[in-house]
Amino acid sequence: MRVLLVEDDTGVARALAETLDARGHSVTAVGRGADALTRHRDADLLLLDLGLPDLDGLDVLRKIRQVSGVPLIVLTARDDERSVVRALRLGADDYLAKPVRLAELLARMDAVARRAGSPATTPEVVHVEDVEIDLGARRVLVGGRDAGLTTKEFAVLAVLAARPGTAVSRQQLMDEVWGDAYLAVSRSLDVHMTQLRAKLDRPGLLTTIRGFGYRLGRG
Ligand code: CA
Repeated sequence: MRVLLVEDDTGVARALAETLDARGHSVTAVGRGADALTRHRDADLLLLDLGLPDLDGLDVLRKIRQVSGVPLIVLTARDDERSVVRALRLGADDYLAKPVRLAELLARMDAVARRAGSPATTPEVVHVEDVEIDLGARRVLVGGRDAGLTTKEFAVLAVLAARPGTAVSRQQLMDEVWGDAYLAVSRSLDVHMTQLRAKLDRPGLLTTIRGFGYRLGRG
């Protein structure tokens, strides 16, 4: 498969790329988070280091997950529990601490790719009633008219649209859109949800699940 390896340590990157190439994978290695954001669409699977020179790997992960369900394994020297939990919450499919054991990496890559091969991968365009959410173009049409969402409003909606008909917790929304769940962020989520509802103008489209979170569309 086409593997995008995001790793700023060139020695580690070269060794991994050689091993994966030898197993028949086609590896593109980049050293910056910004490259991961522009090139993930061409990959079947991402291997993402968290310690990158330009962006925090968790921010890279969050941004990718706002637009793509591409299989992604986090590779990092950070093996503290907080980083592991945040990476998984942000949508990493798996997590490996460095130094990586190659046989284990290959097995985990196969497992993640196998799971992604099921129809669970997020479609690029989500339709709910007469609302069309284009996750690639980051545009929302309501009855054919552009809803004019702000970046953050779109990000909130995109998290819900990735799992239509499924309840998403406030915690998950705050993690994916803001990267953390401070009190100020919690208020901000309420404000954005109110604005979203006003702009979409489709009562019942965004359902509040009391004490939990929100759902897009009928359950
Ligand atoms: Ca690094």
